[in-house]
Amino acid sequence: MPSKSLWLEERVQKFNPLRGEQAADVAVVGGGITGLTTAYLLTRAGMNVALVEAREVSSGASGHTTAHITSQHDLVYARWIKRFGMETASLYAKANESAISTIEGIIAEERIECDFTEVDSYAYTNDHARFTDILDEAQAASELGISAELKKDGDFILPYLMAVRFRNQAMFHPVKYLNGLAGAIVRGGGRIFEQSRVLHIREGQLETAEGVLRASKIIIATHLPVVNFPGWYFARVYQSRSYVLALSKAPQIDGMWDCIDKNGKTYRMYKDYLIVCGGGHKCGVQSKSSRYAELKSFCLRRIPGIRVEYSWSAQDGITIDGLPYIGQYSKKTPWLFVATGYAKWGMTQGTVAGSILASLIKKDENPYIDVFSPQRRMGLTAVSGLVSQNAATLAHLTTGFLRFGPPLCAHMKCRLVWNKDEHTWDCPCHGSRFDESGAVLEPPAIHGLKR
Ligand SMILES: Cc1cc2nc3c(=O)[nH]c(=O)nc-3n(C[C@H](O)[C@H](O)[C@H](O)COP(=O)(O)OP(=O)(O)OC[C@H]3O[C@@H](n4cnc5c(N)ncnc54)[C@H](O)[C@@H]3O)c2cc1C
Repeated sequence: MPSKSLWLEERVQKFNPLRGEQAADVAVVGGGITGLTTAYLLTRAGMNVALVEAREVSSGASGHTTAHITSQHDLVYARWIKRFGMETASLYAKANESAISTIEGIIAEERIECDFTEVDSYAYTNDHARFTDILDEAQAASELGISAELKKDGDFILPYLMAVRFRNQAMFHPVKYLNGLAGAIVRGGGRIFEQSRVLHIREGQLETAEGVLRASKIIIATHLPVVNFPGWYFARVYQSRSYVLALSKAPQIDGMWDCIDKNGKTYRMYKDYLIVCGGGHKCGVQSKSSRYAELKSFCLRRIPGIRVEYSWSAQDGITIDGLPYIGQYSKKTPWLFVATGYAKWGMTQGTVAGSILASLIKKDENPYIDVFSPQRRMGLTAVSGLVSQNAATLAHLTTGFLRFGPPLCAHMKCRLVWNKDEHTWDCPCHGSRFDESGAVLEPPAIHGLKR
């Protein structure tokens, strides 16, 4: 069965490509949750905004997500308190909690029908050795003002030994929500251009194959940023892929569930489908067997009788210290902005990014600017992450000098790896991906492969 996201069955409004010369106050590059939320908030503030998307709105990670809308991001709070201190951990918690209300507010304001449902979120373990992690997380979350409770020895369809529950979280149909945002942007006077890959960005303008957009402020919301220097984001974020199945004939479950154990999966319902996600690995790492087949047999062993209706995969960026980068692209570029590195929690973090970027452009105060600033001071964890990630990259770059073998990445000439599940060429260095014909699927690459 070819991979296809359940969410992309939803009809998406089409927009024309960028052609000729156009002008705007703000240009947003990328039509996922980050770009659309930012464009929406700026349009609402009365600014003249144009969004430029390489393919279709929602065609990136945001159309391939599992769309748990939660501030429960695995077990981060005990770790953040230890790594960054109480104040930063508390601001992270508040930013992500308030993003749930922001999404709910936009849905109400714009009357977006996207099956938004309030549910509780659970992180659970079946491993006695992880009990203290769950206890520490419940304690840390409570200290940060999140309503967190412990649950023991239960089951949702699978049994668990210990879980921490966050109340009043939510889930929705992400593409219906993003369609709603796109509609609201256009109604508010903003413009959206599709099938318009941005090929060059410089101060005051960006260029696609057929058009030029002049704007004094430019926001790069392309998932992994497409401008290499300054910023060096390709070296500060790595891409991790995960696999998703939408299953029929499964019993209904209540809430959203995230198993924190080794090879743990996440679970939620959408109508009668049970959506299971797992199998995470760094982009460009090969596997002997099909990852979809592994996930399917995992599900069949535990939930007999289920049927796979949809399967898809996607990737998301993880930064070297674990917090997203949201803000000014580099110290030297006050006209250029970025948001990336959500560690597979981009429904709330992409929304946080929208409100921070809108505040920076409007020069409004925002309590979360410093926490997520790409120019924040990096601690020891970040430095060791930087070294280990780039040591692996160096090894792949070296094989790029060999004359024969798989194609070289159009981004930085790393040797690509064939992904037999998706029939794509994937870059183990920086996460760019290309289809069989060599066309770009994922940044940071901008150009396709040379024959
Ligand atoms: C399998 C999986 C499950 C996930 N589940 C959850 C979850 O349950 N809850 C949660 O909070 N998060 C989840 N996430 C994370 C979340 O989906 C992402 O963090 C989020 O969608 C990223 O949004 P974005 O707007 O930054 O990127 P995208 O949605 O990828 O948007 C970027 C857009 O930029 C466009 N683009 C790229 N290059 C160019 C260019 N040169 N010119 C113009 N446009 C360009 C792309 O085509 C794309 O449409 C999950 C991620 C994965 C991989």
